[in-house]
Amino acid sequence: MKIINPANHTVIKEVEEDTSATIQEKFKLAKAGQKKWAKVPLSERKAAILKFRTLLSEQKTRLGELLTSEMGKPVSQAKNEVNGTLGRIDFFLEHIDSVLNPQTVFADAAQYLNETISQEPLGVIANISAWNYPYFVGGNVFVPALLTGNAVLYKPSEFATLTGLAITDLLYQAGIPKDVFIPVIGTGQVGAQLLEQPLNGVFFTGSYPTGVKIAQAAAKQLMKVQLELGGKDPIYVCEDVNVQAVAEATADGAFYNNGQSCCSVERIYVHASIFDSFVEHFMGTVRGFQSGDPMNEKTYIGPLTRAAQLEILERQVADAKAKGATVLSGGKRMSGAGNYFEPTVLVNVTHQMEVMREESFGPIIGIQKVSNDAEALALMNDTVYGLTAGVYTKNEQRAKQLMAEMNAGSVYWNCCDRVSPRLPWSGRGHSGIGATLSVAGIQTFLQPKAWHLKNV
Ligand code: NAD
Repeated sequence: MKIINPANHTVIKEVEEDTSATIQEKFKLAKAGQKKWAKVPLSERKAAILKFRTLLSEQKTRLGELLTSEMGKPVSQAKNEVNGTLGRIDFFLEHIDSVLNPQTVFADAAQYLNETISQEPLGVIANISAWNYPYFVGGNVFVPALLTGNAVLYKPSEFATLTGLAITDLLYQAGIPKDVFIPVIGTGQVGAQLLEQPLNGVFFTGSYPTGVKIAQAAAKQLMKVQLELGGKDPIYVCEDVNVQAVAEATADGAFYNNGQSCCSVERIYVHASIFDSFVEHFMGTVRGFQSGDPMNEKTYIGPLTRAAQLEILERQVADAKAKGATVLSGGKRMSGAGNYFEPTVLVNVTHQMEVMREESFGPIIGIQKVSNDAEALALMNDTVYGLTAGVYTKNEQRAKQLMAEMNAGSVYWNCCDRVSPRLPWSGRGHSGIGATLSVAGIQTFLQPKAWHLKNV
């Protein structure tokens, strides 16, 4: 498999893909490795993850540059991602003991009865990952999975393979055994072959269409399925805000990582009374974005990771224009080599247009005028997805009323495109099943055992 730099289409490296036979071998290895790993004292498992954290922190620059070279994320953002992973690891390390502690829920000496719940690892799990934030979405799975005593067959995205191999290397250096964390390398076909193994669970981050295939494949083995999928995340801007500040914040929410975040702002609804002013400030921010070589520290817009996404963006722009949208900026590929697309802002958009319904996953945003909260809310919830949604207003009560009605796993007041290790990360509808992060994101790698103890 060729690893291609999306900024200039040069081949960086060729790597060997796994086959059915190698995957089967890896599964057998992991099956045996997991049994031993589950018996390793928690303090030792924690020490290995802590060492992994130290290595990540020490090698942030090298790792950031490697990630940029294979998926085009601007290097400052790539380093931010490695850095952001440290806080997530800290959260898991801090909470793992309490989650694993057995819990006595009933004890009655007169009846000689004790009821206790203990937690056991699931066993061997597959971690099939997306490329857009490989440290975040991978780490949300393999860190708690390893801490809880599971073995992990880790399939990085074919667009973040070198990063996946670098993560593997650091985990081994940190003391995670080679039969407990095992990389499986290749495209979607290899991912599908991995799911033919009798795994105990699959934890997937990726698109809705692939998520459906994962669930179907997993059903054959009846394994636990967790899916973190895409979104079409809306923001509503009320008339009482500081327009310039909100325009800047939401433009960053829409264009950070080139719009390739599951929680990127993908739709903006603005109260009619400030619409023109908002759009003007928004455009001012977008015009200030520096595009170009993602290895340059100052670059904000780099190339898209996948060349195929350029066509999807072009199709969304053409569809919107045909249905009456106005293109205020961008709308097409940039000339020259690399998967570059101009930062694109559309107004006069409606929900008849694909750009307001389908995940764009690129530097493109539609801004729609609304007359009141009820209209904004109806439009925000008019989607098959349900990952995040948010509102900007000075009025806390108004915000909380709207947030209570938003059909999304995460809701925001005066912020967007935000993830916290302390809060569950979950999607509704086509955005997925289950949660990572928070205590729930540790428990998900465990199965409870109910102890009925009668001391007669
Ligand atoms: P994708 O669905 O194309 O691929 C994801 C992974 O699945 C890759 O490793 C791929 O090789 C593998 N795969 C593909 N077909 C498979 C099959 N049939 N069986 C098994 N594995 C298969 O997604 P992507 O392009 O890597 O990622 C972008 C998507 O991920 C976007 O929709 C984005 O919103 C979503 N995402 C969601 C979250 C979240 O937390 N909800 C986070 C990041 C990305």
